[in-house]
Amino acid sequence: MDTAEIRRRFVAHFERHGHRAVPSASLLLDDPNLLFVNAGMVPFKPYFLGQETPPFDRAVSVQKCVRTPDIEDVGKTTRHGTFFEMCGNFSFGDYFKEGAIELGWDLVTRSQADGGFGLPEDRLYPSILDGDDEALELWRKVTGLPDERILRLGRKENYWSMGVPGPGGPCSEILFDRGPEHGPDFDPVHLGPDMPFDLEDRLLEIWNLVFMQDELSAVRSKEDFDIAGSLPKKNIDTGMGLERVAFLLQGVDNMYEIDVMYPVIERAEELTGRRYGADHGDDVRFRVVADHVRSSMMLIGDGVTPGNDGRGYVLRRLLRRAVRSVRLLGYEDRALPELMPVSRDRMAETYGELHRDWERISQVAYAEEDAFRQTLRAGTAIFDLATSELAATGGRELSGDRAFALHDTYGFPIDLTLEMAAEQGLSVDEAGFRRLMEEQRQRAKADAAAKKGAHLDARAYREVADALGTAVEFTGYEQVVSEG
Ligand code: ATP
Ligand code: MG
Ligand code: MG
Ligand code: MG
Repeated sequence: MDTAEIRRRFVAHFERHGHRAVPSASLLLDDPNLLFVNAGMVPFKPYFLGQETPPFDRAVSVQKCVRTPDIEDVGKTTRHGTFFEMCGNFSFGDYFKEGAIELGWDLVTRSQADGGFGLPEDRLYPSILDGDDEALELWRKVTGLPDERILRLGRKENYWSMGVPGPGGPCSEILFDRGPEHGPDFDPVHLGPDMPFDLEDRLLEIWNLVFMQDELSAVRSKEDFDIAGSLPKKNIDTGMGLERVAFLLQGVDNMYEIDVMYPVIERAEELTGRRYGADHGDDVRFRVVADHVRSSMMLIGDGVTPGNDGRGYVLRRLLRRAVRSVRLLGYEDRALPELMPVSRDRMAETYGELHRDWERISQVAYAEEDAFRQTLRAGTAIFDLATSELAATGGRELSGDRAFALHDTYGFPIDLTLEMAAEQGLSVDEAGFRRLMEEQRQRAKADAAAKKGAHLDARAYREVADALGTAVEFTGYEQVVSEG
């Protein structure tokens, strides 16, 4: 079943049950706590917070989402994209747990001939928050599953809040067992409060149902908060990963191989002459390319331009990682003009503005690639100089200083330095490099703190640094780029 059909069925199912179909909001909704919309509920926040009265009490949407914290997982797990689409149904003080469980279970298990997704019941595992007896009872009643098929998880997995006082509530999930090829056997009764890490690709989380019922007075962490009472109006917020359901229904191994993403991998195979499926390291790079080309295109589509902080920095990183990954696959010419139109053609079926706005989108992306290529050229000369110096002294290890200078002055990503060094049989003093990065990070922190009015920037910057799991990367080298 193609992705477009899954999307249609999701919306149609909930429309049939009285939900108003609401189009996806931009990725750039104005929210002081978020760089990008990262869940289907974000555009509905004012309703959930009681700041606005919803014009309908049931809604369904397929929302564009970007999650920068997931960037390190892309291509390594089967299920994390930096961009993805979240299908969701919402109840604003209307139906609650029973309705949400019935509607969700019906759609995933109903036969495909009858408008559903036809996932086999014996592979599906609902989960509850341990202690949410109401949900347990309802899952039993609605699904007829025996107790040992209903997973009990802890607060870390199955309690939702916004991290601040306000609404919160237990969650249920629908997980799909992909079978023993994808992870160890498990005992559902003794799974423990957290989903075991090595089971996450086997017991795939496809749908999360949030039962917003509590009023929280304090939130100290995901697991430590105070419930002050019940919400006067209880709400439902759910999110089903479109790409995850697509990869199950399309019988492929992971989300990067679905109909709207795989053509980019195929084009990258043609360009690089390497075959997807032949080498694990290469496969991760192919998947990173497919993901990042798509997410950067969608971000530009919604108005982001590459920059040195906040949203622009995320975009810059995505574009550069895409370009770098193609290079590491062995293709050195301009890659985005070959790859991004392939992604556009698949995504424009849903997001027609990609065609209408293509002139602008492509120019932004291609200009950034050209600037990065310039950086690479300059850095490569310095790299070659360093290795010939090494050769002259008989050394086999590139110093941390060198790696840091390449990074800091020429914007040379450390992976690239590592890769290029390895090609010449050299190692790199990575620990030394990390030490220098950390020192620089501390300096930048002190600078930022010293700078008056820098509060907002620092927040955005911290968010990005956290999200990307890397130290500060945007000092110095951008100069080289903007001159290029
Ligand atoms: P996971 O535990 O797999 O990281 P999650 O619990 O962080 O997922 P939720 O916040 O519950 O995800 O989002 C609702 C649904 O959106 C998930 O059940 C999943 O199907 C989908 N989803 C979440 N993150 C991603 C992602 N990075 N790429 C693709 N789909 C995602
Ligand atoms: Mg997650
Ligand atoms: Mg989860
Ligand atoms: Mg979840």
